[in-house]
Amino acid sequence: MNASLPDLIPPPAAARVPVRGQSLTGFFPVRRVYCVGRNFADHAREMGAAAPASKAERGTPVFFLKPADALVVDGVAAYPPGTQDLHHEIELVVALGQDAPAGVLDPAQAETLIFGYGIGLDLTRRDLQAAAKAKGLPWDTGKAFDQSAPISYLLPAADVGALAEHTLSLRVNGALRQESRLDQLIWDVPDILHELSKLYALRAGDLVFMGTPAGVAALQPGDICEGRLDDLIRLDCRIAPPL
Ligand code: MN
Repeated sequence: MNASLPDLIPPPAAARVPVRGQSLTGFFPVRRVYCVGRNFADHAREMGAAAPASKAERGTPVFFLKPADALVVDGVAAYPPGTQDLHHEIELVVALGQDAPAGVLDPAQAETLIFGYGIGLDLTRRDLQAAAKAKGLPWDTGKAFDQSAPISYLLPAADVGALAEHTLSLRVNGALRQESRLDQLIWDVPDILHELSKLYALRAGDLVFMGTPAGVAALQPGDICEGRLDDLIRLDCRIAPPL
C-alpha cells in the first residue's frame, strides 16, 4: 500500500504520561503496558498462591498486559461496568527510554534502558479475574479494561536513586491499605526486564507495572486513592461513578 494514502478515520490520540524531573519536564509517549503478577510474597499468599522460599524456587514471573489507552493521567477513573468487586493494587511503574538490544537482555545491562519511574494502580475486577482463574481462562476482562491503569507523573531515574530503599504505599480515604519497601520484590527491576526480554522485544515507550504488595481490597465510587513512593512520587486518583 502507498504510505501517503490518508487515514480514513481520525487517528486515536497516543497515550502519554507527564514527566516532572528536577531538570527534565515534558511527556513520555507510551507504547505498551506490561504488568507483573504475584511479585510480593505477602500478596501472593493473600491471593492463595504459594510464595517462593528462595530466589532459586521462584520459577518464572506471571506477566499480563493492559492496553496503553487504559492509562489514566488526570486522576479520575470511572467505576467499571461488569464487576461487583473492583480492587486496588498500588505498584511501582518502570518506564523504558531505550530499545533493548536484540536477544535476551543481560540483567546487568537492564538499568541502561530505564528512563524513570512512576507509581500506578493496577485496577482489577477481582470477581472476573477469580472466575477466569478458576476455569484456567485468560485474565483480560479482569485486568485490561477501560481506565484500569491510573498512573502518576514519572520521575527520571536519576531523581529516584536506589529503588530498594524506597517504600510504596496506598491510602484510601486517608486509611493506610498497602505499604511495602521495594526490597521485598520477588523479582527486582533488572530481573523482570531480563525475563520480559525472553518473551517480548522491549522498546522505548514501554511501561512495566511491577506488582503489588499485600492489602488489596475493594474500591467504591467516591473513594479517594493516594499512592506514594515516599515523598518522591504521589498518585492521586478518585473513583468516579460508573460511566
Ligand atoms: Mn497487579
